[in-house]
Amino acid sequence: MTEILTGKEGIERAAELIRKGEVVVFPTETVYGLGANAFDKNAVRKIFEVKGRPMDNPLIVHIADIAQIDKLACEVTLQARKVMQAFMPGPITVIVKKSDAIPDEVCAGLKTVGIRFPSHAVAQEFIWACGVPVAAPSANTSTKISPTTAEHVYEDLKGKVEIILQGGSCQVGIESTILDMSTDIPTILRPGAITEEMLAEVLGEVKTFSGKIVVAKAPGMKYKHYAPDCDMVVAENVQHAIEAYRQSASRGENPVVLAKTDYIAEMKKTLDVNAIDLGASDEEVMHNVFAAMHTAQDKYGFIVCQDFGDKGVAKSVMNRVNKASGGNRV
Ligand code: AMP
Ligand code: MG
Repeated sequence: MTEILTGKEGIERAAELIRKGEVVVFPTETVYGLGANAFDKNAVRKIFEVKGRPMDNPLIVHIADIAQIDKLACEVTLQARKVMQAFMPGPITVIVKKSDAIPDEVCAGLKTVGIRFPSHAVAQEFIWACGVPVAAPSANTSTKISPTTAEHVYEDLKGKVEIILQGGSCQVGIESTILDMSTDIPTILRPGAITEEMLAEVLGEVKTFSGKIVVAKAPGMKYKHYAPDCDMVVAENVQHAIEAYRQSASRGENPVVLAKTDYIAEMKKTLDVNAIDLGASDEEVMHNVFAAMHTAQDKYGFIVCQDFGDKGVAKSVMNRVNKASGGNRV
C-alpha cells in the first residue's frame, strides 16, 4: 500500500524507512525525488528497480547541510565552493570528484558525484531526519514525465513505494541545473532554473554542453526522457500552431495547446482551441510545464506546444519540451 503523508510524523516514518534500507518519495523545489540511503548499495539498487532505470544512469546525492559534502567528495575546488555558496540551497546539482564512501551504484561507475542541497523545507527536514545523504533521481517511471505533485507520483508509482511525503506543487517545476565542476571549464550538462548567465556572474567562464553523446560523460544524457504518453509537436509561431492543431483535430486526436496566456488569446481569435494556460512569465511556464503535460496526456490525445525561445529559464524549459516532443517541430 502507498500512503501520502504530511507533517513531522510522516517525515519521521519516512526517515526510519530510509535507515532500514527502503526507498521513500519526497518533495523538493524542482520535482519529487525517489530517495534511498546514499551509502547503502542495496537500498540504492531498489531505486533502479522501482523506476525501471538503466544502472548506467547516475543518481544525485541530496544533503541538508553543506558540511555533508566532505563525506561525499574527495576534492572540492575553490570554484566549486564558490558556486555552492552562491546557489545552495537551491535548484542546482554540482558535480565533483567522489569519495570512496559512495557505492558505485550511485554514480554508475563514474569517478564523480552530483551533489544537491534542496531548498524545500520538507526535503531539508526529511534528509536531516535520515541522518545520511539521500541518493535520488526524479520519482517517475523511467522515460515518463517528472512529477511535480504528490498526486503525479501516486498515479505512477502506487503499490511500488510505501510512503510519499506531501510537499504541494513544486515551486520551480523542472529538474535542477547540473553543473560539472570536475572539468577545466565549468560545464552545464542539464539546464535548469539557475541559468548560464547566473553562473557566469559567479564563475566567469561557463559553457553549456552541446553536441552528440557518443560515450556519455553523464550516462543520463543519452536516454530519451520526459515523454508524455501522447505525441507532441513544437510550433514555430501562432500560425503554425493553428495549422498543426487543425490537422490533429481532423485526424480525430483531441488536441490541446500548451502556451502562454497571450499566445492562447491570439490563437482563439482564429480557432476555438482546447488550451492549458502556462501563465504570463517564463517562471510560471517553468512551474507549470510538467503538470500541464501530465494533464494533457490524461485528458487529450495530441499536444501542440509554443516555442518559448532561448532567453534565461525559457531555454531550460525548451530543453524539456524538445525532449518531450522528440524534436518534432512544425
Ligand atoms: P534525474 O534527475 O532523474 O534525471 O537523475 C539524475 C541525473 O543527474 C542523471 O540523469 C544524470 O544526468 C545526472 N548526474 C548524476 N550524477 C552525475 C555525475 N556524476 N555526472 C554526470 N551527471 C550526473
Ligand atoms: Mg529523471
